[in-house]
Formats: sequence, C-alpha cells, structure tokens
Amino acid sequence: MKPNETAVPLLADLHIHTTESDGTVTPDAAVKRAHVLGIGLMAITDHDTIDGNDLAVKTAEKLGVLCLRGLEISVNSRFGSIHVLGLGLQHFSERLEKLLEQIQIGRRERNPRIVRKLKLLGFDISMEEVRDLAKGEIIGRPHIAKALVNRKYAADQAEAFELFLNRSSAAYVERWRPEVRQAADAISDSGGIPVLAHPGLIPIPDTGTRKDFLHQLKSRGVLGLEVHYPSHSAEMHTQLESIACDLEMIKTGGSDFHGENKPGIEMGRGTCGLPILLDYVRSLIETLNIPLPCR
Ligand code: AMP
Ligand code: ZN
Ligand code: FE
Ligand code: FE
Repeated sequence: MKPNETAVPLLADLHIHTTESDGTVTPDAAVKRAHVLGIGLMAITDHDTIDGNDLAVKTAEKLGVLCLRGLEISVNSRFGSIHVLGLGLQHFSERLEKLLEQIQIGRRERNPRIVRKLKLLGFDISMEEVRDLAKGEIIGRPHIAKALVNRKYAADQAEAFELFLNRSSAAYVERWRPEVRQAADAISDSGGIPVLAHPGLIPIPDTGTRKDFLHQLKSRGVLGLEVHYPSHSAEMHTQLESIACDLEMIKTGGSDFHGENKPGIEMGRGTCGLPILLDYVRSLIETLNIPLPCR
C-alpha cells in the first residue's frame, strides 16, 4: 500500500450477471463498476453461458481486479429448481460444453412454447421481439417478461412473472434441466468449484431438513454455500454459516447483480445490504489456490 492510501478493506462479489444472460451491464462495464466500488475479487456468473468470461478477465487484468471465470446453472431437486454456481473455471471441459448445449436446446424448445401460450391467451407478442431483447445467446423468461412489460401487459418484470411466467402461472412451460451431480461434475471437470446459490431461498420447511438437504448436495459434489446474499435474512445467514461450518462447506458471497433488471441490488453487497469483505471468502481463495488480491 502507498503511504497516502487509506486501508479500506477490499470487497468480493462472486455472483454477477451481464448482458450475456439477463443482466443489463456488459462484462466489460461490470468489471469497471466492480473496480470503482472497491471490489478486489469478482466472478461473472451468467446463466448457462461462459461467453462473457474472457472479455471480463481481460478488462480485470488491466484494472488489477481478480475476476474468476464462472456461470450459474439451474438444476432439478426435490424442492424444485435450485441454482449451482461454478466458480473459478480453469478451462472449458467437453462435459461442460455438452451440458450447456443440452440446456440451450431446452431453452430453444421451451421459449416459443411460452410465447405460443401467451398468444393463445390473447396477448400480442412475438419470439422476434423477445430475441431482440437478449444481447447474448441466452434467451429466457426474463426477456419474455421484458417484452410483456414493453407491451404494457405487466407493470414490471416481477408482475410479468407473477401473472404469466411462474411455475403456477398461465403461460409457464417447463424446460430441461440437469440433475445436481451432472452440473457439479461438469463444473469440477473444468477446474471450478460448484457452489449452491442463494440456499436461503429454497422453500425448505425447517432447519433440520435444510441441513439434511445441503448434506445430500455435498455428497453430490456441491462444495460451497453462498451464505452472504442480499435476500437472506440475518437469521438465515447465521443458520447457513453454522451449517457450512458443520458440513465443512466453503462459504461464499455474492450480490446476484443484474443491473437495471434487479433494482436496488449493488455489487459487493450481500446479506441485509452489508458489504461482502474479501476476507469472508478466503476459504474459496485457498481452495482455488489463487494469490490474494491486494491494493
Ligand atoms: P429461465 O432460466 O429462462 O427459466 O428464467 C429463470 C430466471 O428468471 C431466474 O434465474 C431469474 O433471474 C428470473 N426470475 C425467476 N423468477 C422471477 C421473478 N418472480 N421475478 C423476476 N425474475 C425472476
Ligand atoms: Zn438472472
Ligand atoms: Fe439464481
Ligand atoms: Fe444469479
């Protein structure tokens, strides 16, 4: 540290979306924003794609930020769809490539079926306009939600989900999702660490069941838990810390930043909007065996 610099601790954010999936900020701009916010360690975790990683890493190297390659994969579980982050990918294994292809086929098959259902319900919407709203290859329900908002069929994305796109809503169509082990193996195969995203949002009835479920996920290759997360309550955060400790799982933290698509969420902020200190994710840094970033 230079003599005139104050020792403000660096932050971390291991869950960031960009325009490659359903975020509104490009990979390049995401890294610049992280840098300005004092984030020393970050990960780009777009849904089902690694396309933004190379550009982000290149920008990060120039700015002195450590940017991990990553992604987020939705998988099946007995509690519905849950999300697995892959953090610190070292290469792109054939297994991961095949898995992402399969997921992409599932999306291509599902999206037009949702649009068809909406048309049958009397809404004027086309697959072309949905496609135009996606900047990258990944097209999903958030883009359909945006199209519905643009056409004033819903006030905002949350309402569009509630009215049309949630599992219990009128235009919902299932898409193919892998099993936990398939996603975890594909991530590990690529040198990354599989981490369960926002574990506190999974609708699990009680603490005992939560612990059993997380234990089961660990046996299927999920090595970490995203404990520090904006919509976790302080109680949930404490509960997850204790489970992570008991099950010897890696603790991580991330904001799930989506730019304007998730108003009120800022990079580097986790549970209750508190900063995610770099030190909080030291076990991930140690497991990946990467040098700790410093100012
Ligand atoms: P898809 O993978 O295309 O089925 O879309 C799932 C994504 O939609 C999730 O990862 C979220 O980013 C977003 N999403 C799911 N539920 C909601 C909701 N109720 N409001 C806003 N966005 C949502
Ligand atoms: Zn998203
Ligand atoms: Fe998620
Ligand atoms: Fe996410």
